[in-house]
Amino acid sequence: MSIPTSLVIRKQNNFRSLVTKQAYKAGEIICPIPTESMFDKPNMYTVQIGRTQHVEVKELASMNHSCNPNTILDTSRMLVFAARNVNAGEELTFFYPSTEWEMSAPFICLCGSPNCIHVVAGARFLPLSTLENHYLNRHIREAMIELLNGTENLLTSIEREHIHEKISKRDPSAA
Ligand SMILES: [Zn+2]
Repeated sequence: MSIPTSLVIRKQNNFRSLVTKQAYKAGEIICPIPTESMFDKPNMYTVQIGRTQHVEVKELASMNHSCNPNTILDTSRMLVFAARNVNAGEELTFFYPSTEWEMSAPFICLCGSPNCIHVVAGARFLPLSTLENHYLNRHIREAMIELLNGTENLLTSIEREHIHEKISKRDPSAA
């Protein structure tokens, strides 16, 4: 599956971007997410589609991050949607942390918008108050829940330490 010819890669100096020659209405499907090779670790050309699945996305690898993106990548249906009305000639962008948990090559965002996240490194490094304003794919939501569920172990280990201390006070040889 390849992307429509209305999507073109623009190269300026060493900077690539993906531009649409066609306009889209909010909610419209733009294209399928192309799937080339699958990896268990992210690289510069992959999009994360599962907990340990990173797929090379061909031309879509030229799509840049935005803190106010005009598209959404839905990795369960493997489709790119227009997040709002998009004009012909506009650059297509998406919110990288909506698919990426921990990126291989974090960078600083200079978009200048009031809601700019500045450090684009993956959802793992963003506060919930930021994440809640974006569509997040299932694997990102699951990773987040797992991270939060892990905090339960903190109390368990504090309790275990306490019990251990009580036992060792009673009988020093038990320590
Ligand atoms: Zn930004």
